[in-house]
Amino acid sequence: MRLLALPGDGIGPEITAATLVVLRRAAARFALPVEVEEDVVGHEGLRRYGVTVRPDLLDKARAADGLILGPTATFDFKNPDKGEINPSMFFRKGLDLFANIRPSRTYPGLPQKLGPFDLVIARENTEGFYADRNMTEGNAEMLVTEDVAISLRRITRPACARIARVAFELATERRNHVTVVHKANVLRLGDGMFLEECRKAADDFPGVAVDDVLVDAMMAHLVRNPAKFDVIVTTNMFGDIISDMTAEASGSLGLGGSLNEGADYAMAQASHGSAPDIAGRNIANPFSLILSVALLLAWHARKKAAPKFADAAAAIENAIEAAIAAGEITRDIGGRLGTKETGEALAARIGGA
Ligand code: NAD
Repeated sequence: MRLLALPGDGIGPEITAATLVVLRRAAARFALPVEVEEDVVGHEGLRRYGVTVRPDLLDKARAADGLILGPTATFDFKNPDKGEINPSMFFRKGLDLFANIRPSRTYPGLPQKLGPFDLVIARENTEGFYADRNMTEGNAEMLVTEDVAISLRRITRPACARIARVAFELATERRNHVTVVHKANVLRLGDGMFLEECRKAADDFPGVAVDDVLVDAMMAHLVRNPAKFDVIVTTNMFGDIISDMTAEASGSLGLGGSLNEGADYAMAQASHGSAPDIAGRNIANPFSLILSVALLLAWHARKKAAPKFADAAAAIENAIEAAIAAGEITRDIGGRLGTKETGEALAARIGGA
């Protein structure tokens, strides 16, 4: 398995280094042929090459079996004409990674602010309100006058249909329950279409229970009783927002794994941002990116029918659960270890040295 790793900005290099220590140990333990090549995106790309993400990185990514993308300082990148391109958008769009899978669960040993839960969000990843990626040419945000801005949201039937299918397939491997989250009472056409396509997909999965909830009410339901949800399928921005909330409810934003999947390609990416407020201090939680890499290994196992990769993914997830129970964790979730030490302790738990 050849992987391209792009550490990114802020805490990106720290959490990527810790992640690669864990990945290499898991590969050693399960005798997996994993090779990782590193390159740069974000501010480092801007400094070295005058662009946050070089166009040739797309070919480099395609030539590999998967991508590990650290968080980047996307809010700093405002002017594409000056090479300031959002790397996350670049790869999601360029590799057609249409499904963003974001599991979220509580762990024994951490405070469970909303009680125990175990759910996964299947978020549409290519269109919706994300104006920088929902057009073939140009940007779907415009300034009509200095005081009038328009942001267009694009919803297409094929994009709705394919994320719906991913969600139902996921549910068959879990607790056979899909909740469709939308705002079809207001966005009657766009979210109406999304809901319609989800209902069509449901017809092909008679064993999966399906319900739908308006996104505003969904926030209340999640805070009240997250345990009643299994797979949540939703459009791009709603999924982005809900998943930060569920990650934090599980203990920390630093705990949310995230995989961007296409038909033949996948990219592991932490669900949080570059956290400039804590960058360079060796205190960031690396678990989000590590869990994302576990998702990538499990994806690879399914695509290549290579069960050893699934064993490695499970070993990483189990080691994280055990590390949390033992308190070998960063301070955002009540521990005392640094980012580097957390990665090393996790690698030691995986064994295989
Ligand atoms: P953020 O997710 O970086 O941070 C929000 C809060 O959570 C901060 O207090 C931060 O310290 C904390 N946090 C985040 N990750 C953590 C971790 N692993 N361990 C411990 N604490 C953690 O959001 P922000 O501060 O609003 O955004 C910072 C930058 O990241 C912005 O430029 C934003 O555009 C960008 N961003 C990038 C991505 C991405 O690359 N996928 C996603 C979201 C935001």
